[in-house]
Amino acid sequence: MSTRIPVVEKVLSANDSVAAAIRALLDERGIYAINLMASPGAGKTSLIERTVAALKQEYGIGMINGDTSEAAFDAERSQRAGAHSVHVNTGGKCHLEAAMIRDALALLPLGEIRLLIIENVGNLVCPSSWQLGAHASVLIGSIPEGDDKPYKYPKMYSGVDALVINKIDLLPYVEFDMVRFRRGVETLNPGLVSFALSCRTGEGLEAWLGWLRSKLA
Ligand code: MG
Ligand code: ZN
Repeated sequence: MSTRIPVVEKVLSANDSVAAAIRALLDERGIYAINLMASPGAGKTSLIERTVAALKQEYGIGMINGDTSEAAFDAERSQRAGAHSVHVNTGGKCHLEAAMIRDALALLPLGEIRLLIIENVGNLVCPSSWQLGAHASVLIGSIPEGDDKPYKYPKMYSGVDALVINKIDLLPYVEFDMVRFRRGVETLNPGLVSFALSCRTGEGLEAWLGWLRSKLA
């Protein structure tokens, strides 16, 4: 009998207990948190910039940007957009873990934050396996990635609470079958709420912002 699986389970359950403590802290402080996941280049930081710009007058926004290196470009972009930002260097790890969020929260002015956006590491495989204490997991897919992504990354697509389909302004230039894409999503995650939009042109952003406002109300 292998001992490897029990070890992995133990690590994950330790993570889950930290995640539960984070959720309790967020609820106590009245903070709504989303865990934003995507492949590299899908537009996580662009969506964050748009979201912060649109909502910062109404709600204080905190950002935790996870990256595999000390390059804090994304955290700097969020900060410039008007969010309270913390950069988490995962030290090469390809996902965020709850302990990293706990440590980052200690550096944020929680009393000034109503919406917390966690920008996970760009990766469609393991981030969905690590609970972070967020209230909703949001996946960003994008048109240039191709319509096969739900079929290739079923665990990611089946585990999220909302889907953003970014870069729809590129639909005329890229081979992307929206019907095939949506069929794959619907099979994995029936009734998943989704927002087709373009962070570049702004098309479709209002529906996404409306969904977030409804969560914050
Ligand atoms: Mg980014
Ligand atoms: Zn990973």
